[in-house]
Amino acid sequence: MAESFLPYGKQTITEADLAAVRESLLSPYLTTGPMVDAFEAAFAQSVGARHAVAMANGTAALHLAAMALELGPQDTVLAPSMSFLASANGPRYTGANIVFVDCDAQTGLVTREHFVEALERAGGKASAAVIVHLNGEYADMAEIAQEARRHGVRLIEDACHAIGTRFGDGGDGMSPVGSCLHSDMACFSLHPVKTITMGEGGVVTTNDDELARRLRLMRTHGIERDPARFTQNELAFDASGAANPWYYEMAEPGYNYRATDFACALGLSQLGQLPEFRARRQALKSRYDRLFDGFHPLVKPVATAQDCDPCRHLYPVLIDFDAAKRSRAEIMEALRARGIGTQVHYIPIHWQPYYRGLAPDLVLEGAERYYARCLSLPLYPLMDDADADRVVAALGEVLG
Ligand SMILES: *Cc1c(COP(=O)(O)O)cnc(C)c1O
Repeated sequence: MAESFLPYGKQTITEADLAAVRESLLSPYLTTGPMVDAFEAAFAQSVGARHAVAMANGTAALHLAAMALELGPQDTVLAPSMSFLASANGPRYTGANIVFVDCDAQTGLVTREHFVEALERAGGKASAAVIVHLNGEYADMAEIAQEARRHGVRLIEDACHAIGTRFGDGGDGMSPVGSCLHSDMACFSLHPVKTITMGEGGVVTTNDDELARRLRLMRTHGIERDPARFTQNELAFDASGAANPWYYEMAEPGYNYRATDFACALGLSQLGQLPEFRARRQALKSRYDRLFDGFHPLVKPVATAQDCDPCRHLYPVLIDFDAAKRSRAEIMEALRARGIGTQVHYIPIHWQPYYRGLAPDLVLEGAERYYARCLSLPLYPLMDDADADRVVAALGEVLG
């Protein structure tokens, strides 16, 4: 019997999702309607943040987070090299100077030491930093935030991998990523390959009312509709002092980064299924962990971070390809021939030609060593236990 192909990641769309989208499409609102508000309220509640602002995608979320902090060409932003391009591009869109942060070669995560080293390279001064929870594992924000506070660095979490991940809150409890206990904002993506999806979508969470206001403003062209903030009184108000009903003002150009109502309907429906998706991802991760225990001396799964209960977006293993005398491309091809999709997350961003042009000689050993060995194996809720067994058996065969 031919076995179905296992991609490295895949969305789960249920009947409930289809019904929610259908209902939204047949409602009077295709965009900027009640589903946006409902999704934002549910998302904020789910991660324990005061505000959640829905966006067109995760990249827009990172861009507007940087704009909300009023970053520009005068600012330096620390950004992870071991991440998706958007972790650096989001702040870069503001014109800010990007200084890349290295990571632990075993976990791919930024630690306090990496943060401090990058800050020194930046001349001791940075306006903000993006910290990514790679794979859905938790970068220790409490530690990083201590340094950040001392140096006046604002913190943006790139939580695109980490919806559903929880971390120790310093007391007895666990807090969800997105609660912004140690950051100004957290950015999420709801791209189909992520843990929950709205097709294309993103969210920024924050506990800061002013940041939330700026995020909403910049999401819709910078259009201000609050009469208390109008500056052109003759245009804004009539003789009686009432605001003209058509009037709006733009102090600073924003973007059209809105999410549609039907995407938010899908996001809301998916959010309701997060506990099940999370449980299934956890079960598969545990199964992989057991299968890899003592499996092969040259293969090591990425370990779970301390004080963290992760909802894994990816399941990467680190393989010593040189010692195995097989190239990564050969192994990926051989797995593909066995119906198993894999991917490399990620090529260090500081190696991209654009960023090399800005910092030609930068070497980041941790990120480069992590990159040299990482390979993401299939992980998504629709996989069953036998699929995970099949992946590990195939990897064993291919490595010999
Ligand atoms: C997916 C992702 C993004 C960007 O999200 P999009 O919704 O695709 O724009 C940013 N950072 C990380 C780490 C991601 O995985």
